[in-house]
Amino acid sequence: MKYAEVIIDITNENVDKIFHYAIPENIKNTIKLGMRAFVPFGKSNRLREGYIIGFTNETEINENLIKNIYSLPDNYVIFNENMICVAKYMADKYYCSLSECLQCIMPKITKNKFNNYININYENDNINELIENIISKNNQQSKVLKFLLKNDNIKSDEIQKVLGISRSPINTLEKNGIIKITPKQIKREPINIQDYKKTLPLPLNDEQNFAFNFIKNKIYEKSKKPILLHGVTGSGKTEIYLQLIEEVLKIGKKAIVLVPEISLTPQTVERFIGRFGEKVSVTHSKLSDGERFDQWKKAKDNEIEIMVGARSAIFTPFENLGIIIIDEEHESTYKSESTPKYDVKQVAEKICSLTGATLVLGSATPSIDTYYKVENNQYDIVCIKNRVNYNMPKITIIDMRKELEKGNMSIFSKPLFEAIKENLKNNMQTILFLNRRGHSTFISCRKCGYVMECKNCNVNYTYHLKDNKLRCHYCNNIENVPNVCPNCSSNYIKYFGIGTQKIEEQIKKYFNNARVMRMDMDTTSKKNSHQNILEDFKNHKADILIGTQMIAKGLDFPKVTLVGVIAADITLNSGDYKSSENAFQILTQVAGRAGRSTVKGNVFIQTYNPDHYSIKFAKNNDYIGFYNKEILERKIMFYPPFSNIFFIMICGDNESNVINAINFLHKVMLYYNQKTNFYISDVAKANIYKINNQYRYKIIIKAKEETRLKNFVLYCINILKNKIDTNKVTIILSLNPNYIS
Ligand code: ADP
Ligand code: ZN
Ligand code: ZN
Repeated sequence: MKYAEVIIDITNENVDKIFHYAIPENIKNTIKLGMRAFVPFGKSNRLREGYIIGFTNETEINENLIKNIYSLPDNYVIFNENMICVAKYMADKYYCSLSECLQCIMPKITKNKFNNYININYENDNINELIENIISKNNQQSKVLKFLLKNDNIKSDEIQKVLGISRSPINTLEKNGIIKITPKQIKREPINIQDYKKTLPLPLNDEQNFAFNFIKNKIYEKSKKPILLHGVTGSGKTEIYLQLIEEVLKIGKKAIVLVPEISLTPQTVERFIGRFGEKVSVTHSKLSDGERFDQWKKAKDNEIEIMVGARSAIFTPFENLGIIIIDEEHESTYKSESTPKYDVKQVAEKICSLTGATLVLGSATPSIDTYYKVENNQYDIVCIKNRVNYNMPKITIIDMRKELEKGNMSIFSKPLFEAIKENLKNNMQTILFLNRRGHSTFISCRKCGYVMECKNCNVNYTYHLKDNKLRCHYCNNIENVPNVCPNCSSNYIKYFGIGTQKIEEQIKKYFNNARVMRMDMDTTSKKNSHQNILEDFKNHKADILIGTQMIAKGLDFPKVTLVGVIAADITLNSGDYKSSENAFQILTQVAGRAGRSTVKGNVFIQTYNPDHYSIKFAKNNDYIGFYNKEILERKIMFYPPFSNIFFIMICGDNESNVINAINFLHKVMLYYNQKTNFYISDVAKANIYKINNQYRYKIIIKAKEETRLKNFVLYCINILKNKIDTNKVTIILSLNPNYIS
C-alpha cells in the first residue's frame, strides 16, 4: 500500500476527517495499522500526533503535494483492528469525532520507567590496570569501585545513597569505560500481589451451580446474546464470576471485569487477586498515568489475563477476549458524562460482537432498560433468588409523619433508635445511610424567610460543621455564616435540613460510647482515605458507619446486622424520570449490606412517603413487581426504553445570549419538526438555572427512533451555528443522559 490513512489528534470539527500521507522507505517495514505517527500538518507543517487507521493505494491528492509521515514514535500497535472498529462505532453512536474516540480508547502514553544497574566493565581489556590506578586514590570514584568489587548489579541511586555521593563519579567511571550501566525497565505496580491471600473455588450451591452452568454453556455455544445474571444481594454472584473466568482461562482466553468506580475497594480487588494472583491487573482513575499505562501495556504484551477496573477498563487491549463481566450493571457511572458520552454496556456489546466474547451483566436490581431487553428476548437471563445464607434481611418501613404526631422531633424514629442501642449492646455493627453530605442543607431567616444562596449559583448553601462555614456544593464557594440576616438584620438565623455531618453529631450526642466513622465526599478527598475507612470499619474499629451512596454498594461486612436509611425521600424526590428506579435500587442495595453472614439483618427505612411503590417493592424484595409497575409508567409517559430522550442545554455567562440562541434553536426545531413529529418541549430554565455564573436553559426532545432523532438534532444545531454567533455560549448535547435536569 502506498498511502496511510491518518486521523490527526486535534479536537476541531474541520480536521475531523481522514488525511492521506505517503509512507517513506525507512518505515515501510515497520509501519502497522493502529500505530501512532508524527506527521507534518497544515501550511506550517507543524508536527502533529496522529493514528494510522488504514492504508490505501488511491488518493485524490496530487502526488507531488502529498506529505510523508515523519516518524513512528512507538514500536508497537496501539489500536488493533477491532478497536478501530469500536472507535468508529463510538464516533457515530455518540456524535463525536473519531479522534476523540481514539483518544478515549488509548491510555496516556508515558515514558517507560527504568532502573539503572551498575557493574564493573570486565569486557574492557585494560580493566585491571584502570582499577589500580583509581583505587589507590582517596576520592569518590575509588569509593564507588571499592564498593563494586564487593557487590555487583547495584542500582545507581542505591550506591549514591549508601556512599553518600553525587552522580558525577559514576558518570565519569562510565565515560572512561570502567563501569557499565544497564537500564532495566520496571513496571509501575498499583497493587502488591504479595498482600493477598490465595483463595480456592468454593463449592457452589444449587442455584449458583445452575447459573454457572447456564452461562458456561452459552460461552461454549458462542451465543451472541448478552446474559443477565439477576441475583439478590449476597447471592454469591462474585463467586460465579470467578469460576466463569477460570473456565475462560482454561480455553486460553482473557477476561475483563468492570465494577463501578466507587466499589473498586480492596475488598473487590482482593477477591480477584486472591483467586488468580499475578494473572490479574487493576486499573481505575485514581492511578497515575504511568501506572495505568503499564497495566495497559501488560495486557497488550500478554503478561496478564484478567483486567479488573472501572468503566475505561473496557478498552483493555486483550487479543483473544473470552468474557466481559459488568457487575452492578444498573450503575449510572457506566455511562460517561464527558465526550465521548459512551455507554459502556453498548460498547461492551459491540466488542463482544466483534470478538465473539460473552457479555455477562450482573445485578440484584437490573436497570429497567436491561430487563426490558430480557423481556424482548434480546438478552438471556438466569436468576438466583436466595442468598448464600438463605437469610434476607427484615425490612421495616417507618412513617416519619407518625413519629412527628407522637412528638418525636429527632432525626431517628423510635424503632431505629432502639435498634441502634440494641446493636451496640450486642457488639455488632450498624450502617446509617443518608444521601446528602454536609451538616444542614439550608440556612434561613425565621423572620423574613430569606435563604442563604450561593452568589454564583442558584443553589442553597450547605452548612459544614468542621470549619463552621457555608459551602456551595456546585461551585465550591465558601462563605462565613452570618450573625444577622443579610436581608432584614434579624438574628433569627436557623439551620434546616440534615446531612451526614448532622447524623454524626446526633449519634455522638445520644450514644456517646459508640465509635463512629463517616464516609462521604468530605472525608474521602485524600488518596486512600476511602480504602482506609472501609478497612478500619471491616476490622471493627468503629461501631457505626454513616455515609452517602458511597457506602450503599458492594460492601460485604459480616458484623453489619443493622442498616438505617435516614430519609428515603431524598432520592425519591430528585425530580428525574428515573427517580423511582434509582430509589428502588439504592434502597435494595443499602438494605443488602445487612445480615450477610450468620446473624439475621435488620433494616429500617424512614420516609414521609411510605406508600410509594419504590419503597413498598423494596421492602418485599420484589424486583419483578417493581419492574411491572415502572415499565407501565414509562410507557404511559413515553420515556425510555419506549423512547429516546435528547437533552439539549445551552449555557453562558450572558443570559440574553443564551436565551437568543436557545430560542432560535427552538424555532428551527419546531419548523423542521413539521415533517418528523417528535415531541419537543418548550424552552425552559434548567432545574438548577445558574451554576458558577453560567445561565442554563434546556430543550427536551423525545422520539422513538434513535438515529433519526440524533440526525434531527445535529441538523438543527448546525443551522443554529451557521446563523447565530454561538462562540459565546456552550451547547451541551446528551442522548439518554443519566439525569435530566
Ligand atoms: P453478591 O455478589 O451476589 O452480592 P457475594 O459474591 O458477595 O454476593 O457473596 C456473598 C457472601 O457469600 C460472600 O461473603 C461470599 O464469600 C459468600 N459465598 C459465595 N458463594 C459461596 C458458596 N458457594 N459457599 C459459601 N459461601 C459463599
Ligand atoms: Zn455556587
Ligand atoms: Zn431576615
